Amino acid sequence: MAGATAARRLAEAGQPLRVFDKGRGVGGRMATRRSDAMQFDHGAQFMRAHGTVYAARLADWERRGIVAPWAGAGRWVGVPDMTAPVRDLLVGIPVASGTTITGIRRDSASWHLTDGAGADHGPFTALAITFPAPQTVALLATAGIILPDIERATYAPCWSVMVAVDRAPAEVLTEPHEGPIGLMALDSSKPGRPPGFRLTVHAKPDWSRIHLEEPREAIVSTLTQAAAACLGTPLRFSDAEAHRWRFAQVETMLGKPCQYDPGLRLGAAGDWCLGPRIEAAHDSGLALAEAILADLGAPA
Ligand SMILES: Cc1cc2nc3c(=O)[nH]c(=O)nc-3n(C[C@H](O)[C@H](O)[C@H](O)COP(=O)(O)OP(=O)(O)OC[C@H]3O[C@@H](n4cnc5c(N)ncnc54)[C@H](O)[C@@H]3O)c2cc1C
Repeated sequence: MAGATAARRLAEAGQPLRVFDKGRGVGGRMATRRSDAMQFDHGAQFMRAHGTVYAARLADWERRGIVAPWAGAGRWVGVPDMTAPVRDLLVGIPVASGTTITGIRRDSASWHLTDGAGADHGPFTALAITFPAPQTVALLATAGIILPDIERATYAPCWSVMVAVDRAPAEVLTEPHEGPIGLMALDSSKPGRPPGFRLTVHAKPDWSRIHLEEPREAIVSTLTQAAAACLGTPLRFSDAEAHRWRFAQVETMLGKPCQYDPGLRLGAAGDWCLGPRIEAAHDSGLALAEAILADLGAPA
């Protein structure tokens, strides 16, 4: 979300740009997994707007069918999946998916990137990095650069289990106080999803931290049993998978919208700047794009 928002703003200001993402598709932690007739949002479940800028973005997306309300209380989801808003922001922008950037270097006042296959990309006038903070710090280190405070940002991990069940629970969204589960979402109840009954189960941060290195089968077994106990019904499931998010939700953030060094024409943004939310990633990406445009002296 941070990178796509920055890219959209820069493109709208007429800046030529390229986006690189190591994922097979775009979306980052706004992630959707598909196999056969199955589809799960296994990262972020929903978004909310606290500020007017993101509220306006959501309103525009709703008008165009990119998002829809779900589960009440100001919650919104992407349609037909959680990657839809990010895909929309990137329409018309060149994106190199499946491209892991492993090194950066500054040469004759321009930026050059190296990817995991050894290919070089550049020259670029300015560089915006919108990875999670630890991965940003690692990439900056390849050029011997430290941007202030980024290493202060910390994340909680999250084990996510996707499970196909034989019937729908009474509630579409449950956030139990007791036990290992932080959230259970009836993924199949979100608008525009394929038929069937599918639950996404997210473990609490502390539980995920303790069990981070355990095998997937053990995680599936524990969390499906806990889900059945929460729902008060035996859970007959036909399919279940687990995904481990090492950097799921920000615990310590910077408290400023982005980091930008005009001398280097280098900046970084992401949820780690403003908080553990999609909206925070959006606002951070937008702030970084504005910093770059101001530095380049581009018309607003
Ligand atoms: C399990 C889970 C549940 C969540 N639930 C919610 C929720 O309900 N509501 C909410 O608002 N937020 C939720 N969040 C948090 C939310 O998903 C994030 O705050 C937000 O998506 C972060 O966006 P971002 O752009 O900062 O980072 P990311 O989405 O992590 O994007 C970073 C991008 O950088 C790319 N990248 C990383 N390294 C490289 C590299 N070397 N080369 C190229 N590309 C690279 C990645 O592929 C990715 O696309 C949840 C997160 C998780 C994991």
